[in-house]
Amino acid sequence: MLALHFLGDGKLEIKDVPRPEPKGREVVVKVKSASICGTDRENLLGPGQPTIPGHENAGEIVAVDKPATARVGDRVAVNCHVTCGHCEHCLNGDLYFCPELKAIGFDRDGGYAEYLLAPEACCTPIPEDISFETASLLVDMLGTPFRAVKRARLVPGAQVGIWGAGPIGLGALMVAQRFGARVAVLDLSDSRLAMAKAFGADPVINPGKADVKQAVADWTGGRGLDVGFDCVGHERVAMQALDVLKKRGTLVVVGVSHKLTLNPWEHLICRELTIFGTRNFNAREFDGMIGLVRSGLPLEKLITHRFPLSRAVEAFDVFRKGECGKVLIVEG
Ligand SMILES: [Zn+2]
Ligand SMILES: [Zn+2]
Repeated sequence: MLALHFLGDGKLEIKDVPRPEPKGREVVVKVKSASICGTDRENLLGPGQPTIPGHENAGEIVAVDKPATARVGDRVAVNCHVTCGHCEHCLNGDLYFCPELKAIGFDRDGGYAEYLLAPEACCTPIPEDISFETASLLVDMLGTPFRAVKRARLVPGAQVGIWGAGPIGLGALMVAQRFGARVAVLDLSDSRLAMAKAFGADPVINPGKADVKQAVADWTGGRGLDVGFDCVGHERVAMQALDVLKKRGTLVVVGVSHKLTLNPWEHLICRELTIFGTRNFNAREFDGMIGLVRSGLPLEKLITHRFPLSRAVEAFDVFRKGECGKVLIVEG
C-alpha cells in the first residue's frame, strides 16, 4: 500500500509499504478521509517521524481477526488515543490522561496511508448520514473546541473572543454560537477573518491593524469579554485576551504554547479571572458532536482542499502556506 512519511525539514516521501494485518482485537481500516492538523507541523518541519503520520482518520473496516463487535464493512471514526481501557481515566472517557497512552499517527502508524491498523476500541461507528470527511473532523478538529466551549459554560448572550481563525478557532466559533454566544474573532490574516465573518463572527478584529482594547471596549460597552479562547497558542495572545476580559472573566487556553507569565495580584485577586486549559474531547461526547452536526453545524464548509494520497506533497504545500481551512487526504 502507499504511505506517506515525514523525512524532516519539510520533506515528504510517498512509498510502498506492506499492508498491515489485524491480530486479536485489532482491525484494518481502509482510510477514506485523513485530515491534516496543525499538530503535524512540528514533525513535518522539524525532525521528521519514523511512523506514518495522520491522527484524524475515518474509514471502513476491511479486515478483522477476533473482534468483540467490529465487523468488516463498518464505517468508523478512528480516535487516535490507544489506551489501557481500564484505568480511572479510561473509565471516565478522558482517554488522553491514560498513563499507557500511545497515539495513532505519532507513536504508531497513522492514516496518511491506504490502510490503517487500529485497536477496535479506537473505532467509533458512524451513522450513514455522517460522511467520512465529517467523521475525520470530529475526532480532533471539532472535538477539541467542542470540549473547550462546553467547559467554558457559555450562557446565551455571552460576549466571547476567539483568537485564531484556523480550523480549531472556527470550530470554537460554530459551537459557541450554538450556545447562544455572540462571538468576536481575532486573527492577523484578513483572509482567515473573512472566513470567520462568513461563519457569523461579528465583529472580526485584526490585532495587527486595530487597537484590540478599544475594539473590545466598543463592542462590550466597556465591560470586557465574558470568555476569551486562545486558539493560537502564544503568550502574546493569552496576555492580550487576559487584558480585555471582564472582571471574573475566563481565559480558555486551547492552542499550545510553553510560556505564560501571570500577575497573581492583578489577574487572580483583583479581577478574579479564571484560567484553564483543555486538550481534547471526552469519549462520551461523541454522540453530542454527531447531534450538533445533524442539527446543521456547517462543519464541511471548513474543508477547503481535498487531495488523494498520491498528491499529498501538494496537500502539505497548501497546508504550509496557511491560506486554507481544513486540508484532507481522501481516498482516490
Ligand atoms: Zn489533530
Ligand atoms: Zn487507561
